[in-house]
Amino acid sequence: MMMKERAFSKQSVRRQLAGEGLKPKKGLGQNFLTDGSVLLDIVEAAELDEESCVLEIGPGMGVLTRELAKCAGKVVAVEIDTTILPILEKNVAEFSNVTIINQDILKVDLPLLLQEHFGNRPVKVIANLPYYITTPIIMKLLEESKGIASIVVMIQREVADRLAAEAGSKDFGAITLSVQYRADVRKVRDVSPECFEPVPKVWSSVIELSIRENPPVQVEDEGLFFRLIKGAFAQRRKTFLNSVSGTAGLGVTKEELKELLLQLGLGESVRGESLSIEQFAQISDGICRKIV
Ligand code: SAM
Repeated sequence: MMMKERAFSKQSVRRQLAGEGLKPKKGLGQNFLTDGSVLLDIVEAAELDEESCVLEIGPGMGVLTRELAKCAGKVVAVEIDTTILPILEKNVAEFSNVTIINQDILKVDLPLLLQEHFGNRPVKVIANLPYYITTPIIMKLLEESKGIASIVVMIQREVADRLAAEAGSKDFGAITLSVQYRADVRKVRDVSPECFEPVPKVWSSVIELSIRENPPVQVEDEGLFFRLIKGAFAQRRKTFLNSVSGTAGLGVTKEELKELLLQLGLGESVRGESLSIEQFAQISDGICRKIV
């Protein structure tokens, strides 16, 4: 009962929007959470206390923002949709620890925002993300992650499975490696489409990314390492060797690469999805030594 009251019912979502003459904006990924148990699981996974600094992305009508404000010290919520702000402001009016910023998260100067609102304190990013820009948001958070300690977000289940994949599985790819290089990935739970209003076509998952202090592998040239990863998965149906050979800027010939693979005990027909992050690091360092 308690949990039901935390979330807005589907009817309440429709009523609040209609009150402002609004409809959910598909183009902004507006599927509002209407399930109290999911809210609770997100907040629990984030392990908040009264000292916690939280950055929320896409607060929408504020259903999650309210729960975060109850448990954290300070919540800064970035919402792009100006028209939804009257509803959001009303729903969080009772909380003095919430600041709303009306901006596009992808255009925000993140280090500046974190510094201005949280100083040097560690920040937890918590969100029910807009799915049309899941990957760019996660990559922005990870690449500008100084100050970010952890990320608990709801995303499409399909993307969550890719982020948490192990080498050798069909979901393993460039995004898996890019994320796992920077963070430890844990799936918290799957979420049915029925938990949202309007009901989306896909299942969702809540995942937790704990930012690593040090990457799991040390590489001589990070730029080269990531170019290699991108190249390896650019043409999924090809072998690693054939896919990578078309990648600009690696600085080695196909023959040299083939020789390197053999030296590392890998066959020339090996595929990108069966290489571990350690093997990518070995190949990257091998290329590095060849070209310097
Ligand atoms: N947090 C609310 C909830 O759980 O019910 C809403 C989540 S809804 C899936 C995603 C939210 O992100 C919407 O409010 C949408 O307007 C907002 N949004 C979409 N694109 C955005 C962007 N580029 N920057 C900030 N917010 C964005």
